[in-house]
Amino acid sequence: MKIKNLYKKKSPVISFEIFPPNEKYPIESVFETIDELVKLKPDFISVTYGAGGTSRGRTVEIASRIKNIHGIEALAHLTCIGTKESEIDNILEELKKENIENVLALRGDLPKEGEIIEGDFKYASKLVEKIKKESALCVGGAFYPEGHLETNDLLDLFYLREKVKKGTDFLISQIFFDNNHFYSFKEKCEKLGINIPLIAGIIPVTNANQIKRITELCGSTVPLKFQKILERYANNPEALKEAGIAYAVEQIIDLLSSGVSGIHIYTMNKVDVTKEIMRRIEKVKDCLGEVG
Ligand code: FAD
Repeated sequence: MKIKNLYKKKSPVISFEIFPPNEKYPIESVFETIDELVKLKPDFISVTYGAGGTSRGRTVEIASRIKNIHGIEALAHLTCIGTKESEIDNILEELKKENIENVLALRGDLPKEGEIIEGDFKYASKLVEKIKKESALCVGGAFYPEGHLETNDLLDLFYLREKVKKGTDFLISQIFFDNNHFYSFKEKCEKLGINIPLIAGIIPVTNANQIKRITELCGSTVPLKFQKILERYANNPEALKEAGIAYAVEQIIDLLSSGVSGIHIYTMNKVDVTKEIMRRIEKVKDCLGEVG
């Protein structure tokens, strides 16, 4: 099923993100994680592409397993920077062969200073345009409630609108720790006529090093309330894990009660944490029901 139709049919849609194992490890090492995550009955699972140095070649294979063995809708991430058009063609062909109907079209992170990479795509919008022209895939994209690190807020919104005009069907957010960023971005989108589903990406923070790395990489800010939690429990992993789960659950419940179309949980492949979040939001999400 095309994910855009899930958002029409159901509210909220609950989805997970996982990443493929690093090439040092066999691909099978993620299968147990998937087996456990599918038991939580997410509406779809997305699989990252080359993020954090993980293998690119495994995304389609893992997405195929989710879709064709477990019967759960899969969303394959695909980045385009530094990539030749023929490589993209090959991946689109593989997706078709594996019956995968959904792709998250991304630019990918810029190369490090001094590193030169050649490719046929500069921005995600060009990838969206190509996919829409040449396939029947449902296409998602990324957005940044606090703005993207490289562009000022207004310009970023302008470029986001362009990405949507090229055919993006839904948008998943970068992580954020203050829901007000999401709400005010949504308002701006509505004013600009961006009316496709905006999905809230939520990450449960369960260790102090993780948050430093992530916020440096993506520029998301940490509100004082959460900073205090991180500082207070930095040396107590069990307490921090508990507090991180509670913080994510509080964010999710607030978003659900505000009528968000979907919650995308960045699971970081942590089954126990995801399980606990799903347990705590079970009654809240189920009482919202089908879209009338
Ligand atoms: P774009 O939409 O191309 O935007 C990138 C920047 O360029 C923005 O600042 C935008 O304002 C600007 N811009 C856009 N169009 C133009 C234009 N025409 N002229 C000038 N400037 C322009 N990375 C991975 O490597 N693998 C993954 O699997 C992955 N998954 C992700 C999933 C989500 C939900 C998110 C939010 C991010 C993910 N990323 C992933 C990270 C992503 O690749 C980076 O954040 C990247 O820096 C931007 O990607 P984008 O698709 O948003 O780019």
